[in-house]
Amino acid sequence: MVVVMTPDATDENVATVVEKVEGVGGEAFVSKGVVRTIIGLVGDIESFHHLNLRTLPGVGDVHRISDPYKLVSRQHHTTRSTVWVGGVPIGPDSFTFIAGPCAVESAQQTLDAAEMARAAGATLLRGGAYKPRTSPYAFQGLGVKGLEILASVRERTGLPIVTEVVDARDVPVVAELADMLQIGTRNMANFGLLQAVGKSGKPVLLKRGMTATIEEWLMAAEYIAQRGNLDVVLCERGIRTFEQATRNTLDISAVPVVQATSHLPIIVDPSHAAGRKDLVVPLSRAAIAVGADGIIVDVHPDPATALCDGPQALLGADLRSLAQAVRHLPPAVGRVDASTLSRTQSSKA
Ligand code: PEP
Ligand code: MN
Repeated sequence: MVVVMTPDATDENVATVVEKVEGVGGEAFVSKGVVRTIIGLVGDIESFHHLNLRTLPGVGDVHRISDPYKLVSRQHHTTRSTVWVGGVPIGPDSFTFIAGPCAVESAQQTLDAAEMARAAGATLLRGGAYKPRTSPYAFQGLGVKGLEILASVRERTGLPIVTEVVDARDVPVVAELADMLQIGTRNMANFGLLQAVGKSGKPVLLKRGMTATIEEWLMAAEYIAQRGNLDVVLCERGIRTFEQATRNTLDISAVPVVQATSHLPIIVDPSHAAGRKDLVVPLSRAAIAVGADGIIVDVHPDPATALCDGPQALLGADLRSLAQAVRHLPPAVGRVDASTLSRTQSSKA
């Protein structure tokens, strides 16, 4: 932490800051410039916060140098992590393709979507049994019945399941059946829910809040990590901007920014970013090129009848085109298909 004194600060003002810092066990290094004095603080940052240094006479500004998040920061964990989901890695060496329906609507629809996903090369199946809908009149998901369908489709296809949980009270039942718990954009700052999934023992896919800064998103991840769960994968799914042409604006720069500041893996959701199927393949290519650790994409056997997000669901030629991109582009940026890496949890990183 660095304290910048105002140009008119007196020696007494500087001495007061030093005294307060040393009083909580910290060290203060004073550096006098021609116009200003700056004081570098070393020690426990939380105890410095309690000093309210900004309120002292002669203090112009206080800057923090280290990240406000600790467990998910790359500052003390320099190598990027791999998170294993039912034997499938998500991390820096592989490229993981997750696909499936937005919502679980029926056993047949989910199985058909899972077969489509698997044929396109996906190694994890997505699908919501609990849907966080903007409208209370929209389809809210099948709940426990949806989880049972997902479990039976996993049995049939071998694809581990990523599914959303929207209420802390549902975490035990979802965690019992799912391989990975998804926290959606609308719940990124639901701190009780974050703590509950942090205690669940299951890997978590944490989507970026649609109005969240990257720092707020990483602080949300810190809530999960603080409860003992470091198996967190971040998902950039577009943020809200003035642009109306797409449902959200995919913040592709979030991928390298996160990778520079956090050791957690980060994937991209081009479907919920665009809200339009014609943009899913180009945005997926962009995600691969920018260095994302994977993508999560909506597919549906009959988008016209989908109960949720039909306009962004892929099938047919579009899905084949995505499959081509996922097969050919990751090797060009030094990644292998996640399905070719070891599927044993014993190699957990
Ligand atoms: C979803 O993935 O089904 C979903 C609702 O996404 P988001 O939270 O990003 O809107
Ligand atoms: Mn959706």
